[in-house]
Amino acid sequence: MNSNLVIAIDGPAGAGKSTVAKILASRLGIRYLDTGAMYRALALKALRAGLTSQDGVQAAQILENTEIEFGPGNPQRVLLDGEDVTDLIRTMEISELASALSVFSEVRAGMVSRQKALVAEGSCVLEGRDTTTVVAPTADVKVFLTASLEERARRRHQELAVKGSEPEIESLTKQISERDHRDYTREDSPLTCSSDAHLVETFGLTPDQVADQIMGKFAEG
Ligand code: C5P
Repeated sequence: MNSNLVIAIDGPAGAGKSTVAKILASRLGIRYLDTGAMYRALALKALRAGLTSQDGVQAAQILENTEIEFGPGNPQRVLLDGEDVTDLIRTMEISELASALSVFSEVRAGMVSRQKALVAEGSCVLEGRDTTTVVAPTADVKVFLTASLEERARRRHQELAVKGSEPEIESLTKQISERDHRDYTREDSPLTCSSDAHLVETFGLTPDQVADQIMGKFAEG
């Protein structure tokens, strides 16, 4: 019998997935797996290699010889071939390139096999765009987090402001909307709320309240 606990959370950009996933992982004392950070780390390496949003096939080749690891810390550290890139992968440029490259099946295949291997290592809370459908379809709890585009852009703006960068809310809204569109419409594993996922609307709720709701779903079984 498998005694591992796996909670998978999907949803569009800025829905609050990572904040809620971190809270749950910390409450339960299990790992937090940020699948988007892996796409971002690859995007950074691709950018450094001079690749563009069209170069998914080459990016997938680069991925074959790339180590992406998570290290302890708050925020959790993201290591790209041993280099701490935690902050470098949070720019709008990297958001854009990660989104564009993640459309390519070659990139997705490489990422998904790594992510499945990480899930197989034991209990975890993972979040992304295909964790409930492809990476961990047999997760114990599956959640789809949503909030309106305006609300998500507002939250992202706040997050970036705390880090000292303050993009125009209009350009942020536009970028999030374009990233959503790509995620929802790509051919390979598009973002979707599967029929067995709990849909959670996060508007007006604090991250702790959202985490409480998800814990409640777990208790329901
Ligand atoms: O979650 P985050 O915004 O950090 O992810 C960066 C990009 O990676 C997203 O815009 C999305 O297109 C892509 N992604 C994905 N599948 C995942 C996680 C992220 O396609 N499981």
